[in-house]
Amino acid sequence: MHFRSAGIPFFKPAIFVMAACTLAAPRTTGAASDDEARGKAWWAHVQVLADDSMKGRLTGSTEYEKAAEYVVAKFKAYGLEPAGVNGTYFQPVHFDVQRVIAEKSSLELVTEGKPAPLVLGEDAILGSRSPQPKSLEAPLVFIGYGLHLPESKYDDFDSPELPRATLKGAVVVVINGGPAELPGPLKSYARTAPFVKALRDVGAVGLISIPTPKSMDFGWQRVASSASQPGMRLAAAPGDAEVAARHPALADDHGVLFSATFNPANAEKLFAGSGHTFAEMLALADAQKLLPRFALGKSIRAAVVTEVSHVVSPNIAARLEGSDPALKAEYVAVSAHLDHLGVGAPIHGKTIYAGAMDDASGVASVLEAARIFSQAPQRPKRSMLFLVFTGEEKGLLGSRYYAGHPTIPEQSLVADLNLDMFLPIFPLKKLHVQGLEQSTLADEAREVGAAHHIEIAGDPEPDRNSFIRTDQYSFVQAGVPALAFKFGWTAGSPEYKAWRAWLAERYHSTDDDLTQPVDFAAAAQFNDYFADLARSVADNPSKPHYLDTSFFKRFERGQ
Ligand SMILES: [Zn+2]
Repeated sequence: MHFRSAGIPFFKPAIFVMAACTLAAPRTTGAASDDEARGKAWWAHVQVLADDSMKGRLTGSTEYEKAAEYVVAKFKAYGLEPAGVNGTYFQPVHFDVQRVIAEKSSLELVTEGKPAPLVLGEDAILGSRSPQPKSLEAPLVFIGYGLHLPESKYDDFDSPELPRATLKGAVVVVINGGPAELPGPLKSYARTAPFVKALRDVGAVGLISIPTPKSMDFGWQRVASSASQPGMRLAAAPGDAEVAARHPALADDHGVLFSATFNPANAEKLFAGSGHTFAEMLALADAQKLLPRFALGKSIRAAVVTEVSHVVSPNIAARLEGSDPALKAEYVAVSAHLDHLGVGAPIHGKTIYAGAMDDASGVASVLEAARIFSQAPQRPKRSMLFLVFTGEEKGLLGSRYYAGHPTIPEQSLVADLNLDMFLPIFPLKKLHVQGLEQSTLADEAREVGAAHHIEIAGDPEPDRNSFIRTDQYSFVQAGVPALAFKFGWTAGSPEYKAWRAWLAERYHSTDDDLTQPVDFAAAAQFNDYFADLARSVADNPSKPHYLDTSFFKRFERGQ
C-alpha cells in the first residue's frame, strides 16, 4: 500500500512545526502549574466517561451510547466533521453475544475410561468467544507453545514427536510464550488468526490454553470472575469474503471451536501420567526454551450450555480536513476505545467496572488532540481522522471492523496512533511503544520524543502479548503503519513497581475508577507529545511505510 523505494532520504520538516508548537506553550515560567491545569481538563473528560452513571460502558449498552453522545458532542464543539456512515459520526457494528452458563455446563478429564470432574472457575473457565459445541469428548495433546510460523521454520503443529496427523480430532493444550529465537511481535501474531487457521488445517476440535504466571497481569481469581462476562464476535456479514480477500489477516472464523483456559496452579491435573510435569514445562517456558510435544494420555469431556444474542454498537469517526491541497486526501488516524467491561462480579464491594484508565483516558487524549488541532493557527497538511472504537475488550472487534470497512477511501489512511490505558501514574520520562520496530513511524516517534525530552523504547515484556492486545493491531493486519503508547519505566525502578501494582490491583478491576491517583502534569505533557507526533506524521511529505525487515510488511502488500 504505502511502498516507497528505500534510498529516499527521510524528510524532517515536521520537527520545525513541532518546535513551533512547543514554543506556543512555553514551559518556563509557571509551566508546571499550567501542565497540572491542562491535565485536569483532560481528566474532566474521564470524570464524565468513567462516572458510575456510565456503568462501565459495555459494548451494546445504552450507557455506552450515552458515552458516545458525549464524545460526538465534543467533536462537534471542536468543529470536526462527521466521518462515520450516512453523514453521521457513527459506524454501527453488529455483534453476536455469547454467554456461557457455567452452572449448566461441565468438564471432566477421562483417563483410561475413568472420569474425574473439573471445577469450573477453580480448574478452568470455558471460552465464550467462538461458538461452542454442546458436547465434546476428545483426546488431549500438548503442543508446547502452539506456534505455527512456517516463515520462521517453526511449527508446533507438526513435529517429529507429534506429527500433524495425530492432532486430528484432538483438543490441543498450549502454554503462553515461545522460544527466545523468535521475535516478540511474531510470537504474538501467531496467537491470532494464524492459530485458529492452524487448528482448522490439522482438524483439531478445540484448545485449552494455560497462561503462565509470568504472562498474567493479575491472579486467577480475576480471570475466573471474568468468565461471567459475555463473549462477543463480529456478526457474519455478506461483505466478509471480500474483506478477507483484500486483507487475509482480517479474515474471521465463525466455526465451532471448543475453548477453555486452565488455571496454571491446577494444571498438573492435565499432565499427570504423561511422563512430564507442568512444572517442567513452566520452567522451560520461563527460560524461553523449546518445549516437547506429546499426547497427554487422557481425554476431555465437556458439556457446554450457551445463550447467544445480538447487539449493535457504534464506532465513532470524525475528521479535520488537512491544509495541503494534495496531502489532505490522505488521513492520519488517532484512536482509542470507548467500551469497557460494564457491571460484573463485585471487587472491594463495587460492581461497576468504570474503566477510567482503560480506556476513558485514551478517549480523553483523542479529544484533547482534537481540541489542540482545532485551535491551532495552522491545520496539519494531511487530514486527521479521530476514531473511537467499540468492542475492544471483546477482542479488538470495533477496530477490526473499521480496518476492514473504513469510512474513508481505504488507500488514504496512512497511519494509526492508538492509545489504550497509557497510564500517566508517574512522571513522563519514557514511553514504551508497540510497533516501534516495524515502520518508519518510529523515526518520528523518536524525533518528537527527543524534542520533548522523552525516551522512546520498544516493548520490554513481549510475553504479555501487548502487541496484539490493543486496537493498533487491527491496523497492522490491514497493512496500515501503526503505533500504540504507554508510559515507560526501567525494570526494578519505583515506576516499574507502580506499573506492576496498577496491573495487579486495578487492571480490569472495579478499582480502575475515578478515585485512583493520577499524575495530571505528566498526562498533559503526554498529550502535547501525542498531538505533536500526530502533526509531525501528518505534515511529513513522505508517507509512513513498513520496513522491509518487518514481518508485517506482507500485510501492507495485501498478502
Ligand atoms: Zn481493557
